[in-house]
Amino acid sequence: MFVCPSEDEAIYCESLEKLLRDVAPVQRVQALDNAKAFDFELHAAMAELGAWGVGVGEELGGGGGGPVLQVMTLELLGRHATSMAVFGVIQYMASRLLRQYGSDAQKAQYLADLCAGKLRASFCMTESGGGTDILATMKTRAVREDGGWRLTGSKHWISGAARSDVLIVVARTAEHRSRGISLFLVPASTPGVTVSELGTFAINGYDTCAITFDEVVLGEDAVLGTVDQGFMQVLGTLNSERLNAAAVAAGIGRGAHRLALDYAREREAFGRPIGQFQALQHKLVHAGVELEAAWTMTVSAARLEEQGRDVSVESAVAKLAASGAGQRAAQLGMEVIGGAAFALELPMQRYYRDIRLYSFAPLTDDMIANFLGERWLGLPRSY
Ligand SMILES: Cc1cc2nc3c(=O)[nH]c(=O)nc-3n(C[C@H](O)[C@H](O)[C@H](O)COP(=O)(O)OP(=O)(O)OC[C@H]3O[C@@H](n4cnc5c(N)ncnc54)[C@H](O)[C@@H]3O)c2cc1C
Repeated sequence: MFVCPSEDEAIYCESLEKLLRDVAPVQRVQALDNAKAFDFELHAAMAELGAWGVGVGEELGGGGGGPVLQVMTLELLGRHATSMAVFGVIQYMASRLLRQYGSDAQKAQYLADLCAGKLRASFCMTESGGGTDILATMKTRAVREDGGWRLTGSKHWISGAARSDVLIVVARTAEHRSRGISLFLVPASTPGVTVSELGTFAINGYDTCAITFDEVVLGEDAVLGTVDQGFMQVLGTLNSERLNAAAVAAGIGRGAHRLALDYAREREAFGRPIGQFQALQHKLVHAGVELEAAWTMTVSAARLEEQGRDVSVESAVAKLAASGAGQRAAQLGMEVIGGAAFALELPMQRYYRDIRLYSFAPLTDDMIANFLGERWLGLPRSY
């Protein structure tokens, strides 16, 4: 509504919307979600459109574009195919890490195929002993040995690992809290790597996994970027990840809002459409205002990032706004649709479940508020 796409952005979004209508109609997305199955057909169609290469230059096998096209892609996916939207956030993070920190050989080996949808990657940082406080709790270690590294430990809650070809693993390589962490590119088929799927209640179309690394032998060339600087490298991608998470949350919220609105126009009670009752009408208006504000902030911050500006505060504000607006819209959607909201054929229950992820990933809303309290409002650090 307030977002003015450029002509190229508008053409891309129209093509993507058409693709989603054709390849991912709601009945198909629901059926796959109920069956807990990844949508390989949609993944391939998105690759064909060039969606997985957004943010990577053509010289590296990508399709060009930057943060704005990424958030536009993810917002549309959030509305139509929530699990694929989560896949998209990981895909863009992996391709960004490779583009920014990969050696020429690593880029040649992985980047073009990742953009073309021929490879899939997972980002493995969280462990069962800690997420928010992972720097203090990380037990996964890589130890130098002749000509390479030996990786041991485990990761938990890792998106997509059961179907990923390559794992980007965050491991401790020295004792210094933040400057003792490195990133490793680990082919999922490497001996000693075991992936098992976890049972979860949401994001059904994209697996969530536990991984163990049992004395995994890696070459020197497995290091992504600089040894001991891995955490700084991850921090360098944090703004884009927040913006991309905000885009998915805004998309899920907008999907839920649109569905609730359509239902409120059609469903009758006491001889009139339920959308005529002021109690519902006002709530739908407030939810719509909140969503548009969050989405507009997300696109504005992505535009600033595209211009090379530091958007650490803006991306955090957008993420907090979109996560809250998305959750409240899905909650309202469940209320407006009443009993039918429980039906597995309707996507409202999926919006309601899947939006939960972005209240705590990639960083919890509490931690984003901590960051904003300190960096935006100038208040003393709270922890
Ligand atoms: C479906 C799913 C997919 C995921 N995918 C990935 C993935 O692909 N890769 C990956 O690495 N991780 C992934 N994660 C993990 C996710 O990033 C973590 O769950 C998240 O970082 C939060 O960590 P935690 O769950 O350990 O929560 P905790 O760190 O245990 O936090 C619990 C609560 O305490 C609060 N809290 C903690 N410290 C503070 C503080 N200082 N101030 C205020 N409140 C605080 C938090 O806000 C939160 O509410 C995934 C998780 C899920 C469920």
